[in-house]
Amino acid sequence: MTSTLIFAQAPKPKLIVQITVDQLRGDLPDKFMNNMGDGGFRYLKKQGVWYKNANYDYSNTETVVGHTTLATGANPSIHGMVSNVWYDRDKKRLVYNIEDKRYHILSENADIDDTTEVDASQALAGTDGRSPANILVSTFSDELSLFTNAKSKIFGVSVKDRGAVTLAGHNGKAFWFSKTSGEFISSSFYYKKYPKWVEKFNTQKLTERYSNKPWTLMYDKSKYMFGDSDDNAWEEDYAGYGRVFPHKYGNKNSKYFNHFLTFSPAGDELTLDFAKAIMKEEKLGQGEHTDYLAISFSSTDYVGHIFGPSSLEAEDNILRLDKTLASLFKYIDKKVGLENTLIVLSADHGAPEAPGYLATLGIEAKWIAPLKWNKKPSLKRLEKKFGVGQELIEAFFPPYIYLNHKVIAKKGLDLATVQKAVAKEIMDINGIALTVTSTELRNNTLPNTYLYNAALRNFNAKRSGDILILFEPHCFANDMDGGAVMASNHGGPWRYDTFVPVIFAGGQLKAKQVFTPIRPNDIAPTLSAIVNAKAPSGSSGQILTHIVDTFHK
Ligand SMILES: [Zn+2]
Repeated sequence: MTSTLIFAQAPKPKLIVQITVDQLRGDLPDKFMNNMGDGGFRYLKKQGVWYKNANYDYSNTETVVGHTTLATGANPSIHGMVSNVWYDRDKKRLVYNIEDKRYHILSENADIDDTTEVDASQALAGTDGRSPANILVSTFSDELSLFTNAKSKIFGVSVKDRGAVTLAGHNGKAFWFSKTSGEFISSSFYYKKYPKWVEKFNTQKLTERYSNKPWTLMYDKSKYMFGDSDDNAWEEDYAGYGRVFPHKYGNKNSKYFNHFLTFSPAGDELTLDFAKAIMKEEKLGQGEHTDYLAISFSSTDYVGHIFGPSSLEAEDNILRLDKTLASLFKYIDKKVGLENTLIVLSADHGAPEAPGYLATLGIEAKWIAPLKWNKKPSLKRLEKKFGVGQELIEAFFPPYIYLNHKVIAKKGLDLATVQKAVAKEIMDINGIALTVTSTELRNNTLPNTYLYNAALRNFNAKRSGDILILFEPHCFANDMDGGAVMASNHGGPWRYDTFVPVIFAGGQLKAKQVFTPIRPNDIAPTLSAIVNAKAPSGSSGQILTHIVDTFHK
């Protein structure tokens, strides 16, 4: 008689679905849960482990920065995505984070139209080519790929290119939405030509179902927390989209049609359609190895910027996002089984309230125009001191000022001295909390405070500027004339921008709410541990053992 040792098989997930909701602040799902159904956020709450005290701890809480931290477990100082846009000293221009002229867009007539593009950072790109080459470390998806010798299937999809490219990593496939063509597109980094199913998907022209239709409220106005405040002066009327319901998408051939879709729940619904197509056509979760699908939903971010997170639009958007999530979870259950899937949901950054809205509650908030600092008298004082005027500044894109190192060297000036003087002039502007120079950060001679540490975690010597500007809480950068161009803007080190949900569900996980502080950086090494792969190369996250343990019983 032989005794057989029966080892419990580690119930490795067949599929990992990583969801990012752009600009979903940590408290927002609970705030609106009363009107939510059962299958979306409520499923996550009833079946998932919800970390309710997760914060980013670097200073520049922008989209590509957060997505890359979610993908890599690293801080921007290490992964290199310090900002949506930075100044490239070799190219002598501002560059967009994932631009890469070696890898062109695979579709024709899908290039960004600079005359209509609402995304200021994308409009700055010098090319429509895209790749993950600027991400300096490995992603979880890279490590999964290395662990299985590329036998795991890896995909990323989002309305925003940077929402898909970051999480798909260096060996996955990324797709994003072209506001020019209304199609989901990719670049030659990923494919020589599209798989047949992608072409078939795009010939369906799913955007047309919204043609000549408006975005209307899902329920009667009386059901909403913000039902009696649809029209607010601080909301933006972008290109005639309007400040009140119904928001008309216009005709499918009109100039802003595809843009308006992304400023509404329609953008997420289209992303969901494409995500389902990936799962079906690429047979995710059906093979021997764990597959990975990253989905970044962008509508919450656009709606937040245009109307603010406390608006009727934002409220209806999150209720519809809840339906979109419910539909996704149902589809996953049908195709792979939720018990065989690990879902993780988080956000790339939080959301500040619109200054106009805060004012109605007696909370002071303001827009300031930091670009104005380089007008007199500040610059005059610098000119007097160093004998150099405007040419001292090579570029300025918040949060960084880039000095002209050549001019400084030519004049025989000391870079650190000039940096310090410029930083001091800007520090005097009302609404600035702190300015830090790259020399101080490089030498790490700064006091051990929350703000300095946040600045340090955002500092990459090659990409960060000479001077980092941090704004006071509820004070926002506006590069125009001090008047608002949008309802609200994120990007700072304060809790409303750093606070995001981190939720794991599926597999054998059981409902739990955890208030122990964690960072979104913890997600990537945790996923690595679940599949037994090594952590991404720059990860500083901690493994969330409560999650990992259920997969290694
Ligand atoms: Zn974002």
